[in-house]
This record gives sequence, structure tokens and C-alpha cells, in this order.
Amino acid sequence: KIECLSGKVVWITGASSGIGEHIAYQLASVGCKLVLSARRKEELERVKQTCLKLGRSHLQDEDVLVLPMDVLDFDYHKKAVQSVLDHFKKIDILVNNAGKSQRAVWSEVQLDVDREIFEINVLGPVSLTQAVLPHMMERKQGHLVVMSSLAGILGVPGSRSYCGSKHAVHGYFDSLRTELGNNIDITLICPGPVFSNLFQHAATGKQGELVGRNMENSEKRMSTERCAYLSCVAIANRMYEVWVSQNPILFMT
Ligand code: NDP
Repeated sequence: KIECLSGKVVWITGASSGIGEHIAYQLASVGCKLVLSARRKEELERVKQTCLKLGRSHLQDEDVLVLPMDVLDFDYHKKAVQSVLDHFKKIDILVNNAGKSQRAVWSEVQLDVDREIFEINVLGPVSLTQAVLPHMMERKQGHLVVMSSLAGILGVPGSRSYCGSKHAVHGYFDSLRTELGNNIDITLICPGPVFSNLFQHAATGKQGELVGRNMENSEKRMSTERCAYLSCVAIANRMYEVWVSQNPILFMT
């Protein structure tokens, strides 16, 4: 189902671990050219080596570009786009996947932590999208993908800012879609709980940890590989909004 993406240039943020890492593997296997971004360069290099192995029949070293980047470094985003264009001459798909979660009850939250979560999860994708869009508009084609969450649709205890940030992403990209018309695709992916390092990387308070543990132990969590594969199916089919969960999947197009 995802072979139609072969040859596309796909830029993935948050590619150093979890869902982003496994999206890279899925796409490398079908011959996509990849840009891998996150802060940890050594992890990106590790992911690149696996991508080259998986795509060995169709990928050369130069087909996977490691581009370390903090999504909070907004001033760098336009330069980053230029670096990708210098290398690949085009960007077909941007996967805004980098994100940070939260596990803290309301009384132990600090505003600077809330701010960081909103900046990574909302302003990061917004700023990078703004930087990429002129290129996509000029080509009259492109695909913006945003890794939202079921927390972008429902409230989750211990995750107010995370949920708020993911809800915000829906408002922003749904509105953008109405402005861009048919030339640019937008896909919002909304996974349920996934076995990744998101909870370990979360902004965690003492009481929030207890709330989060219920989620971590939930049998409803799906594997990172499955989430990544279903995300790629959604991208290949240019779906609007996709809910991805362990058991039956509900696709909304
Ligand atoms: P991980 O913690 O494994 O991955 C998060 C990724 O984001 C890492 O690659 C990390 O890389 C990157 N990242 C975090 N902060 C920054 C930053 N400031 N600048 C650049 N990159 C950053 O978790 P997941 O794979 O689970 O999360 C991926 C996405 O999936 C997130 O948007 C998350 O909200 C969403 N999601 C996850 C669910 C889950 O249950 N796991 C459920 C629903 C949605 P590095 O540290 O190297 O910068």
C-alpha cells in the first residue's frame, strides 16, 4: 500500500526515536529519499544506517540526509529548508512528528513547562510549515503531515498542555487546509497510546507519574512499528484525518 511513495523526498522531524524512527524505516524500505531531523545527531546517524540497510536495493548514502535541528530554533527553519533543497532539489512531504508529552497533575505544573510543550508541539510544526510552504506552493504540490494524537480530540488526565497543544494543531492545520485548496495535501494522524519513549521524555511531576503509569501499562498501547506502518498507509492514501489504535482502526478521510 505504501509503495506509491517510492522516490518521494520525505522530511521527518523527531526521526531519532519512536514513531518518527519507524516511519523512516517504512519509507526507506519502499525507496523514499529521506531527511532525518531531531536534536540527537548520533541517534539520527544510527537511524540512517538502518534506513540504508532496509533500502539497500534502491538507496545510496546521499539519499538519506541527516539534518540535526531543534524545532524550537525557529530562526533556523528557512535555512534548513534551503539545505534540503540544495541537496534534493525538492520536498514532497514534510512529516511534523517531533513532540513532547506531559505527565503532571494541575497543581504541579509550571508555566515554563507548559510553554515548552506548546512551543515544541504547535509552534515547531507551524514555523517549519511556514518555511516549507513557499516551495510547495511554487511547485503546486506537496503534502504536510502532522503527528497529532487521540489527545488532540479527547482530554487525558495529567496531560492538559499536551492535549491543549494537540487540539491547537488540529485548529491550525484544518484552517490551513481551507486556505490551500487542492494543491497541498494535509494529513493529521491521531494515534492512541504507543510503546515509545514519549512517556520517559515527558515533563513529569511526582503525582503525574502515577497518572502516566496507568497509560504506560495499558494493554491498549500499540507497537511503534504498527503505528508507523499505519501512519505511512494514511500518508500514501493522502487521508485527511486518521485515528490509529491498537484494535480496529477508524479511518476518517
Ligand atoms: P519519542 O519521545 O520517542 O520521540 C519524540 C521525538 O521528538 C524524538 O525523536 C525527539 O528527538 C524529538 N524531539 C523532541 N523535542 C524536540 C525538539 N525540541 N527539537 C527537535 N526534535 C525534538 O516519542 P514518540 O515517537 O511517541 O512521539 C512522536 C510523536 O507522536 C509526538 O508528536 C507525539 O506527541 C506523538 N504521539 C505519540 C503517542 C505515544 O503514545 N507515544 C500517541 C500519540 C501521538 P531528540 O530528543 O533527538 O530531539
